[in-house]
Amino acid sequence: MSGLDLSPQLAPMPHRRLCTDCGISRSSEPSRCGKACQFIEPDYTGLETAVHGRARDPSRPDELFFGPFKRMVRASLAKPLTGAQWTGITTRLAERLLETGAIDAVLTMAPDPSDKWRPVPVLVTKAEDMAQCRGMRMGYAPLLALLEPALQQGYKRLAIIGIPCQIYALRALEKELGFERLFVIGTPCSDNTTTANFHDFLNLLSDDPDSITYLEFRADYHVELRFKDGRKKAIPFLQLPLSTLPPDFFPLTCRTCVDYTNVLADITVGYMGGQGEQWLLVRNDRGEELVRLLGDEVCLSEPGSAGKRKGAVTGFMANVERAAGGLPLRKMPNWLRPIIGWLMPKIGPRGLEFARARVEMKAIETILHLRRQMPRKIKTMVPPHVWTLVEPYGLKPDDAERAVDPNM
Ligand SMILES: Cc1cc2nc3c(=O)[nH]c(=O)nc-3n(C[C@H](O)[C@H](O)[C@H](O)COP(=O)(O)OP(=O)(O)OC[C@H]3O[C@@H](n4cnc5c(N)ncnc54)[C@H](O)[C@@H]3O)c2cc1C
Ligand code: SF4
Ligand code: SF4
Repeated sequence: MSGLDLSPQLAPMPHRRLCTDCGISRSSEPSRCGKACQFIEPDYTGLETAVHGRARDPSRPDELFFGPFKRMVRASLAKPLTGAQWTGITTRLAERLLETGAIDAVLTMAPDPSDKWRPVPVLVTKAEDMAQCRGMRMGYAPLLALLEPALQQGYKRLAIIGIPCQIYALRALEKELGFERLFVIGTPCSDNTTTANFHDFLNLLSDDPDSITYLEFRADYHVELRFKDGRKKAIPFLQLPLSTLPPDFFPLTCRTCVDYTNVLADITVGYMGGQGEQWLLVRNDRGEELVRLLGDEVCLSEPGSAGKRKGAVTGFMANVERAAGGLPLRKMPNWLRPIIGWLMPKIGPRGLEFARARVEMKAIETILHLRRQMPRKIKTMVPPHVWTLVEPYGLKPDDAERAVDPNM
């Protein structure tokens, strides 16, 4: 093992109902949460303009779903990295930045030595140590609490790998933090939960949950599991034991956050629009610089799109309405599940249409859960573009809910 500090000394986290412990509340000025938090009063239009030079462009319809981007591509590393969640583009970008001396350190997550599924924030200064950070972990960890220690150690040229609620806070404070250079590599994020809850989910999936080494919700409507002995298993979404999970399995934060695709990153590295490959949203010139660093290590192609999302999103909304109202999820008869599970990858939304469907589903969840549980948050927490996303499904803001755009 390398010299990575996997148990940084951090201040305790104050309790807030909507907080994913991004790390700002543990910094020297916790009061900055008021400005930095996407759950308090986010300003996406203002920050998109500050970061990318413009907000999302109404004449480019996909920007309504995915935020500003220069180009979207399907991508994979020609030689996938062992242990990576997909082919390891995220890790490789950070390695290249360190190898070329473009930055002093990378701020990201490593697995907790005593629980491989628990994320722990780390500062990485050697490219070879990035290998330890590969793969996805479920849970929250105070990534941004290591910003001040990094700057105090003289690491002013940084790359940060993070999920949307962490990157929002980073961008809101970027100017006052005083970086010399900053590269932001984002991943999409949805349906995160506490690491403890995630272990309960693994217990439902296998008699030997400790043997599970990998889990991913794939864009072909299957969850892929990998095991210590090299076995792989794909379970159709419809056959997952989701309806037996407790109603608070996903915290309210993750049922109501409004940025699925990490719109403030320089580059977003996901899979939703990739049809089995990775999916890159290159958002600005720094994002282009990052892709160039990969050279011919990365294979790029045009993303595809097929199927129609409306039916899938409408069905999803009916289930969220039941769940938000405290009713059990509507269960499909067992005999029908394998048939629908077989059909969905063939006739359901695929590629970019799948990604659009997921973004709309998340926007619907946000509105329905906030209406039920924290209606007074809607006005300040839900930006205008989210209302545009849910409008085709009959959801409209009333006067008390309508957001006031701070830039108008
Ligand atoms: C909770 C969660 C939900 C996600 N949901 C989606 C989704 O719905 N759609 C989609 O397209 N993509 C989603 N992703 C991103 C996806 O899982 C891949 O991580 C991403 O596509 C990059 O793959 P890769 O092979 O390039 O990553 P790798 O090279 O394996 O690197 C992964 C990076 O992610 C970091 N990381 C891992 N876990 C966490 C965590 N809990 N918090 C913060 N950083 C972490 C690691 O430190 C590492 O730097 C999600 C990621 C997370 C953490
Ligand atoms: S800014 Fe971060 S630490 Fe502060 S309340 Fe929001 S998520 Fe929590
Ligand atoms: S789902 Fe949203 S709130 Fe939850 S961890 Fe991901 S980005 Fe943060």
